[in-house]
Amino acid sequence: MKTKGHFSFLLILTLLLLSGCSNSSPTNDAIQAQTNLFAMDTYMSFTAYGARAEEMLAIASERIAELEGLWSVTNENSDIYKINHSAGAPIEIGPETEALISYTIDLAEKTGGAFDPTLYPILTAWGFTTSHYQIPDDGTLELLLENTGYDKITLLDGEITIPAQMQIDMGAVGKGYAGDILADLLKSNQIKSALLDLGGNIQTIGTRPDGTPWRLGILDPVEGGNLGVLLVEDKAVITSGGYERFFEDDDGVRYWHILDPSTGKPARSGLVSVTVVGNEGRQCDALSTTLFVMGLDEASAFWRSNRNFDMILLTENDELFITEGIADSFTLNASHDHLTMQVIQR
Ligand code: AMP
Ligand code: MG
Repeated sequence: MKTKGHFSFLLILTLLLLSGCSNSSPTNDAIQAQTNLFAMDTYMSFTAYGARAEEMLAIASERIAELEGLWSVTNENSDIYKINHSAGAPIEIGPETEALISYTIDLAEKTGGAFDPTLYPILTAWGFTTSHYQIPDDGTLELLLENTGYDKITLLDGEITIPAQMQIDMGAVGKGYAGDILADLLKSNQIKSALLDLGGNIQTIGTRPDGTPWRLGILDPVEGGNLGVLLVEDKAVITSGGYERFFEDDDGVRYWHILDPSTGKPARSGLVSVTVVGNEGRQCDALSTTLFVMGLDEASAFWRSNRNFDMILLTENDELFITEGIADSFTLNASHDHLTMQVIQR
């Protein structure tokens, strides 16, 4: 078991370079503050503009630590840890955790179970939770799959009950949800321009301080560098892919951390990466993971029947698919003209 992917750090660097402000005049909005921190198992970097920027980023950092304290799968005091060690008994949870879990159950239903928050024991069996990688045999996976399934979660009036053998994790959605909470916090405290990078999950607030859109580089996980540049205002932009965390066996076959809930094995849908752009970080985060499981055709059908987000899909065959809502805002890098680009229409 050899390699482990660490592309998100690269992505962060790229995004920061592209998002620097230009032509800033010494107005209140051009007062800049920046904070770097490690939370939710990843490096985060927050940049905000305005008279209250510094004060608000300090509060945002505290908020992230609080949310991590609630949703960490390893911290013994977290709501998620208590739920996972409840031995089948009901557990009382606060409103934020209830809202998050309720959101994941809704999304699991909407995606026909391609999103499933109950895969933690299977992630552990593969070693993704410890980095001690191994390939579980089919019998082991079958047994573990018997204790998965979002429909076995009961959530009622601030109380959650899951079967004794089940464990949940919010790894596919927690950072996006946290991005929403921070964006609301900053916006309601007079911050009109900010870029929150939660480990490659980007939440933008407003425009750059000079009024122009944010310029985000979309990482090419295969060749390195950026596929292209996306212009956005007041949106979340979140990417998932098998390149983020993986190992290889002795034959060079790759196994990654995004699982197909129907098999318990790494999802092999022909996609290399999925970027989702939308108004809500929680939706973008959850869907980037889920559309990666679904693959091009199912993801396109899902987009057509929902249409409240946009996406960029990169396939194993060097094809780039982009939904029409953001096609005009994306410019393919000249270095990537070996990719064919197609627009997905309604
Ligand atoms: P992300 O980086 O947002 O794509 O999330 C990846 C994480 O989501 C993994 O590390 C797992 O914790 C979790 N996960 C993997 N597969 C699924 C799935 N099919 N549905 C929900 N969560 C998943
Ligand atoms: Mg996700």
